[in-house]
Amino acid sequence: MPSSDQTAPPDTPPVRRFRADEPGFRWEDVPLHAYKSDGTHFQAITRQILFDGDDGLLSQLRYFEIEPAGFSSLERHQHVHAVLVLRGQGQVLVGEQIHDIAPFDLVHVPPNTWHQFRAADDAALGFLCLVDCERDRPRRPTAEERKRLAQNPAIAAFIRP
Ligand code: MN
Repeated sequence: MPSSDQTAPPDTPPVRRFRADEPGFRWEDVPLHAYKSDGTHFQAITRQILFDGDDGLLSQLRYFEIEPAGFSSLERHQHVHAVLVLRGQGQVLVGEQIHDIAPFDLVHVPPNTWHQFRAADDAALGFLCLVDCERDRPRRPTAEERKRLAQNPAIAAFIRP
C-alpha cells in the first residue's frame, strides 16, 4: 500500500526487557557473543551489542562481562571508550595508571592510550562501553612497546597474558 509516511519502521523495538531471571546480565533479543572471534590475548569475556547505530545513531553501546580472573586485550586505538561499570569488581589500566573499579564508576579511555580491563579473582566485571560506530581497529603492542610498558613494575605485574 503506498504511503506518504517516509519513516522506515524501526529495527529496534521500543523496549527490550532486562532478563532479571538470567544469572548474567542479559536482555531480550540481544545475542551473547564471544568478545573477539580470534586470538589468545584475552580470556573469559563476552560481548552484547545493546545499541548499534540504530536509526542513524553514530554510537554503539556494548555490554562486556569478564569472568573472575579474566581480562580484555591490551590494546590502543584512535577511538575513545566511554565506560560505565555495572557489576562486580576489577581493575583497569589506562595509560600508565592502574585503577580499582566497581559499580557505578565511569572510565574514560582517551585516543591512542593503552588499556586493559581485568576482573577481580573472585568477582566478575561487567561494564557498558560506548564507542563510535565508525572506528579504527585496535592495535596490540609490539614486542618493543610491551617492553617499554613493562619498565613500570606495576604495569608489568598487571598486564596479561
Ligand atoms: Mn579498546
